[in-house]
Amino acid sequence: MKEAKQKKKPAYSMGSDVLFLLKTAWKTTPKLFFWYPVSMLLELGMPAIAMILPSRAIALLQVRASFTTLFWEITCWSLGLLLCGAGYVGLTRFTDFAYLTFPRTKMSRMGCLKKITTDYPNGETQTFLDLWAKIGNYLYTNNAGSEEGYRVMRRLLTGLLGLLFFGAVLWGYSSLAVLGVAVLTSLGFLSRRAANQWEFKNRDNWAPFDQKMIYIREEAGNYRFAKDVRLFGMADWLSDLYDSFQRLRLHWANKAGKIAFLADAADCLLGFLREGAAYGLLLWGAVKGKIDPAAFVLYFSAVGNFSNQFLACLTEFSALHRVHLETADYRAFLDYPDIFRQEGGKPLPKAGRWEFTLQNVSFRYPGAKQDTIHQMNLTLHSAEKTALVGLNGAGKSTLVKLLCGLYDPTEGEILLNGTPITEFNREEYYTLFSVVFQESDVRAYTVARNVSMDKEPDKEKVERCLKLSGLWEKVESLPRKMETKLMKYIWHDGVDLSGGETQKLLLARALYKDAPIILLDEPTAALDPIAEAELYEKYGDLTAGKTSLYISHRLSSTRFCDRVLFLENGAVTEEGTHEELLSRRGKYYELYELQSAYYKKSKSIEQGGKANETVLA
Ligand code: ADP
Repeated sequence: MKEAKQKKKPAYSMGSDVLFLLKTAWKTTPKLFFWYPVSMLLELGMPAIAMILPSRAIALLQVRASFTTLFWEITCWSLGLLLCGAGYVGLTRFTDFAYLTFPRTKMSRMGCLKKITTDYPNGETQTFLDLWAKIGNYLYTNNAGSEEGYRVMRRLLTGLLGLLFFGAVLWGYSSLAVLGVAVLTSLGFLSRRAANQWEFKNRDNWAPFDQKMIYIREEAGNYRFAKDVRLFGMADWLSDLYDSFQRLRLHWANKAGKIAFLADAADCLLGFLREGAAYGLLLWGAVKGKIDPAAFVLYFSAVGNFSNQFLACLTEFSALHRVHLETADYRAFLDYPDIFRQEGGKPLPKAGRWEFTLQNVSFRYPGAKQDTIHQMNLTLHSAEKTALVGLNGAGKSTLVKLLCGLYDPTEGEILLNGTPITEFNREEYYTLFSVVFQESDVRAYTVARNVSMDKEPDKEKVERCLKLSGLWEKVESLPRKMETKLMKYIWHDGVDLSGGETQKLLLARALYKDAPIILLDEPTAALDPIAEAELYEKYGDLTAGKTSLYISHRLSSTRFCDRVLFLENGAVTEEGTHEELLSRRGKYYELYELQSAYYKKSKSIEQGGKANETVLA
């Protein structure tokens, strides 16, 4: 549960990240490795021909070549230029559309998979959430790292090849010009790199604002929240909140902009010095008669090209550095430590006996000042129907999450049939539970899939479970029966269920899973009294032979259970049957009396106007 400490240094080296991107491309779109080199040669062919052509024309004129020779040579070079230009443009467009989305979509899929399979507590850990916010752009936009990274590598390699080619040409005239251009261009690059590094080091300052803005944007699109937004008049508040986060975010964007501007200005100044000096050297050579007109034109063009390629290399290297930082974040997200056992593990106990023992179990939420569950010792007997009751915040739901392995205790151990549950493969362990959580909800699939939570529902079983949970009649009345899609705002032919109907569907889902342990957290909170009474009556049959835990804050709803546990401040303070607890006249009794007095009063209100008046007075 400890938050993994985030290092400022990227988790991987640039070489390792480049290799990672290349391997991903090799697995998803190997043809890229053929077409990219072709497009690089075509791209480089353009400035090379553009440099050679005028120099060749002058050389031919100098030796008074015939018109035909001149015509054919210039036509051939021009056709080469045309082919390179058209081939390069066509090929880069084609590779972008046909190949480049494959590695990105694979990386997006892996990112989503990590998000939905990581240890449950990671999902509320700030470092993990910050990484998730940071990699959003990297994975989901065309011009960001996971796609642009390949273009950057192509441009960088093209630049390096160009650098060698034009550098070799220029070296023929002056090694000093080559070195001078290289040194001044490198200084410009260093200033840009410093700006990049500042941005990387400071990204943690704005990631939390991005995270919060994402949350507000998602809430704005959440139809289930739409009623509250309107009735509580929350639109202004939410939009102000969004603005305030955006202001804080912009504060950092402005700082980053100023630093980038300074780096660019330094780079431009150095560029001016660089090219001025190189052209000066060339003019001096021409004036002194060291080079003829054809060579002058060739070197003049070579200086520009060498300088362009050098700049392109450094710019693309900077861009690659940025891609590396983003890729390192993405990989750090994929590597985010999972401590639950996900591979191997002891075999699950054989069917028939499912007994839990809690030994000195304490649990504290990260950052909380006190334990939510404190030093709990408890046995849930096999095939026993246990009720867990207590006031809000007593720790009932937390105990359910500990039992089904969503959290690990911060102290002590939970044993299943004598084996610590941490020794089982967590994914296999989850198969033992049919759970209805308070926050469980329907998803935008068909009714049948909402019950089976599977691609291919067993329709007869779905029907059986819907009948048991009391939702079958409603499903029969829907336009496409159990094939009706839920969530109207996603599907134009979808339907929405009421709160009580949703709870019945969630119960059907738990029954469909047919796991040996049933944990129901307030499964009747939204049911009408008839449906609630029906569930109580059926509860014995639904849980026959299973170990079950029924959570409620309604003390009267526990009579059908074998044993009641009364939870207070994270500890079981009273336990026994409902009658035993009443006769003990402790806290359970007090609260039961309080609740039943309210119900009695409500009943008398329904029965006579006098009582009504008394209460309303
Ligand atoms: P109950 O189900 O009995 O109403 P819970 O187990 O949901 O109680 O919550 C017990 C306490 O733990 C509450 O004080 C609640 O604020 C806190 N709590 C619950 N979930 C979290 C969480 N994810 N992070 C931090 N605190 C939590």
